[in-house]
Amino acid sequence: MSQYLPVQNPTKPFWLSEEDQEVATLRSTPELPKEVDVVVVGSGYAGTTTSYYLLENSPSTSILMLEARNACSGATARNGGHLKPDLYYAHNAFKSKYGEKGAAEIINFEHDHIRGLKQLVEKEKIECDFVLTRSCDVHLTPGAVEKAIVNYNAMTQNPYVKCKDDLQIAYGEAAKVISKVEGSPVCVTYTAGQLWPYKFVIGIMKKNLAKGLNLQTNTPVLHTEKLKNGKYLVKTSRGDVIAKQLVLATNAYTASVEPRFEDKIVPIKGACSHIVSSDPSKRTPHLTNTYGIRFDGADTDYLINRPDGSVILGGAKKHIYPHKSLFYKVVDDSTLIPNSKEYFSESMKKLFYTWKDFDSKVDYVWSGILGYTDDSLPYVGELPGDKNKFIIAGFHGHGMPRVLLCAKALAKVIAKKSKVLEIPSAFKITKDRMENTKNEILESLGTPSTEKAKL
Ligand SMILES: Cc1cc2nc3c(=O)[nH]c(=O)nc-3n(C[C@H](O)[C@H](O)[C@H](O)COP(=O)(O)OP(=O)(O)OC[C@H]3O[C@@H](n4cnc5c(N)ncnc54)[C@H](O)[C@@H]3O)c2cc1C
Repeated sequence: MSQYLPVQNPTKPFWLSEEDQEVATLRSTPELPKEVDVVVVGSGYAGTTTSYYLLENSPSTSILMLEARNACSGATARNGGHLKPDLYYAHNAFKSKYGEKGAAEIINFEHDHIRGLKQLVEKEKIECDFVLTRSCDVHLTPGAVEKAIVNYNAMTQNPYVKCKDDLQIAYGEAAKVISKVEGSPVCVTYTAGQLWPYKFVIGIMKKNLAKGLNLQTNTPVLHTEKLKNGKYLVKTSRGDVIAKQLVLATNAYTASVEPRFEDKIVPIKGACSHIVSSDPSKRTPHLTNTYGIRFDGADTDYLINRPDGSVILGGAKKHIYPHKSLFYKVVDDSTLIPNSKEYFSESMKKLFYTWKDFDSKVDYVWSGILGYTDDSLPYVGELPGDKNKFIIAGFHGHGMPRVLLCAKALAKVIAKKSKVLEIPSAFKITKDRMENTKNEILESLGTPSTEKAKL
């Protein structure tokens, strides 16, 4: 069995405090079907929304979804619930690789996700605590401040960026008042969203099930192979299935079914928490924004203030990225990141002056596995040399503003309703990307090549 399969007994995230008992361990049929039109591997945000749009484009398609653990128990159930497009901070990095147009394509695509998700939640009437809000990026080191200003200004000069009017930068005292963070001389705000990601996906899953999707949980896919007739043999722990088309929505675990992605989509372990008032009769000081909290390099925290007053805070990367063996190519989300609970417990008082005298506690802390890619962008499309085998994976800590419209576009191609995959060109699978052997992940995270002692 592959070392990259999801592990059993994962830590319990806040989002699974209301695990859906109808769907969590569902096996739509007692046995696996012998043959179907499409097998989708993975029941997270990517697999579930791709199936949704596939059924919308082609209602008679038979879809079998195979999931290694309980339904939607991967990154989607362990994330920060933050629908926060990156509209400027990576602008120059994208521009240097993909040009002004390419950078704008990614920015515009991410911005479109806010409306896209809101419309889908409303259309399907999914109760998932969706809140339309503004995110506030605060910058707590001179390096982060400089990077924010340089990239913000460059983004405003890019003629292809359509959402410039949605961003606002504030300096000095105004930045501190707006952000409620004393240590941030610059803040940038823009439209964002927050939601209960597990409930969103399970809501969509139920629509799919009503349309005939066959879900088989706790059924890991061990291997796939192409048959002479062009169909795919999918081997699972519970027997084999034949499929005309195959979709890998396996994110961090892609190498478990597609070994050629071993150094292209790498499992990276992350940490997140849920924070509540120590005294249930006292409301937490409400933060009107969601937050990106930036220190140097890749050291960032992220935060949403939920409509029930609780806070989801993730990151703690100071305790992760210096120690390669703790997080790199790690699929084990059954254990916590050392020191993450202590880090999250102290953060609110340290960060926000409105929380300085307020007592809160961490009631859930968990880990999750993110799929980082060698060049930092997702892989979406048909796999070269493997007709009818598709992938939608590699979404870093940034899937919420990227997956939905990738899934929508990919489903049209799978259903043969479109020949063109309408996603940013840089997300597509090209020969160059597949042949690229430079893996930028550790460098981008600032991880030293020699392991530091763990704290
Ligand atoms: C701690 C943490 C915090 C994050 N915070 C945010 C955030 O605030 N905002 C944001 O935009 N993004 C965030 N992310 C990233 C985001 O959660 C992901 O990008 C997104 O959920 C990816 O969805 P997915 O469906 O591709 O992956 P997943 O939800 O991981 O789904 C993949 C599924 O495939 C299954 N699978 C894999 N291999 C096999 C196999 N061989 N056989 C059968 N099943 C298999 C897995 O069990 C899993 O259920 C965070 C991630 C983590 C871990």
